[in-house]
Amino acid sequence: VRARAVAVATGAYGLQGLTPLLKNRVFPVLSNSIVTRPLTDEELQATNFLTHQAITDTRTLRFYYRLLPDRRVQIGSRSAISGAAAHQEHHYRLLVDGLARKFPALKGIRIDHSWWGWVDVSHDMMPRVVQPDPAQSIYYALGYGGNGVSFSAHAGRRMAERVAGLRGPEIELPIYDSALPFPRQGEWTAPFRRLGQSMLYRWYWLRDEIL
Ligand SMILES: Cc1cc2nc3c(=O)[nH]c(=O)nc-3n(C[C@H](O)[C@H](O)[C@H](O)COP(=O)(O)OP(=O)(O)OC[C@H]3O[C@@H](n4cnc5c(N)ncnc54)[C@H](O)[C@@H]3O)c2cc1C
Repeated sequence: VRARAVAVATGAYGLQGLTPLLKNRVFPVLSNSIVTRPLTDEELQATNFLTHQAITDTRTLRFYYRLLPDRRVQIGSRSAISGAAAHQEHHYRLLVDGLARKFPALKGIRIDHSWWGWVDVSHDMMPRVVQPDPAQSIYYALGYGGNGVSFSAHAGRRMAERVAGLRGPEIELPIYDSALPFPRQGEWTAPFRRLGQSMLYRWYWLRDEIL
C-alpha cells in the first residue's frame, strides 16, 4: 500500500505492532455494558429518571448509565483485566447487581443486550489528536478513555483537517500539540501494567464498597 498519509483511529485495538510511535502509548481497558428491555410506565416512574443524559456515580470504579430513547436502561462499568476473562459470568453479574442496587424496581428485569470491548486509556487520561513526529506523515486520534462517540466524531474531524494540511478552529491545547505519553515511570514498567491494574482494581473496590 502506498499512501501520502496514515491516520490511525483504531481505538484500543491493534496498536502495539502498528507503528513504534504507538508502542505502549495507550493502556487498553475492558468496559462492559448491558441494556434492559423497555421499561413499563410503572418502572419508569419508580426509577425517577428525569433525563436521557448519561449519568455516572462517584465511585473510582464507576457505574455509568442512562435511559435510552426507547425506554431501556443501559448501564456499564469496568470488566475483566484480560480479554480471555471477559466472558466470565461475574463481570455480567456486576452490572445486573449494580442496576438493582441503584433501581430496586428493576431487580430481575430481562436483559436484552450485553457487550464488552476495549477502550483506549492514555497514561495521563487525556486524548491526543496529533501528528506526533513531523518527519513522518502519521497522524492519530486516540486515548479518549471510553469517553464516548461524541468525542471520537470531533477528533475524527480534527484529524482529517490535519491530514488535509488545514488548521481547524481548535484552540491551542496540549491534546493537539503533544504525543501520547509513555507510562509515567518509563517504558520498562509496561509489562507490569496488568499486574498493577489488577492490584488497583482490588484496592479501588475496597475503597468504593467497604471503607
Ligand atoms: C462496552 C462499551 C460501552 C460503551 N458505551 C458507550 C456509550 O454508551 N456512549 C458513548 O458515547 N460511548 C461509549 N463507549 C465508548 C465509545 O465506544 C468509544 O469511545 C468510541 O467508540 C471510540 O471511537 P473510535 O472511533 O476512536 O474507536 P473504535 O470505535 O474502537 O473504532 C476503531 C475501529 O478500528 C478498527 N481497527 C482496529 N485495528 C485496525 C487495523 N489494524 N486496521 C484497520 N482497522 C482497525 C476496529 O475494527 C474498529 O472498527 C463504550 C465503549 C465500550 C467498550
